[in-house]
Amino acid sequence: MLFRSHIVFSLAVWFLLSYYVAVPFWVLGFVLLSTVFVDIDIKNSRFGNRWYFRPLQWVTSHRGVLHSLVACVLISLIVGSFNLWAGFGFFVGYVSHLFLDCFTLSGVRLFWPFGFKVKGFVKSGSWVEDVVFVLILILNVLYVVGRVIMH
Ligand SMILES: [Zn+2]
Repeated sequence: MLFRSHIVFSLAVWFLLSYYVAVPFWVLGFVLLSTVFVDIDIKNSRFGNRWYFRPLQWVTSHRGVLHSLVACVLISLIVGSFNLWAGFGFFVGYVSHLFLDCFTLSGVRLFWPFGFKVKGFVKSGSWVEDVVFVLILILNVLYVVGRVIMH
């Protein structure tokens, strides 16, 4: 999935979460950071094209280790060892990223090191993704407008 799809979806998850749980607002920064982070193992992703991620990409492959629950839990625990809320935000962003990628045709090895891939029917960057992106974006805008009007 594209960078922008991950951002709007993580925002939607954040809105839903912060509606039910009293999460500090700054945690949103970690949600967005982790949702962007997961794709640094992809050469042509928004931030993955930086030269300094190249060595990492030799180790992990596209949709490899980073796109797995093992990495999600481990890295979130490391972040959480510094600050629990930060680790929580990182976990939420990470899971939302993996969830969305599960719908892609290329799929994710969610249960790495097992080879089994979770796949969907959406081609990354296709019109289906565009529709999903716009729908979630509209939901987000409606939610924010709704919150502003209610207050
Ligand atoms: Zn991804």
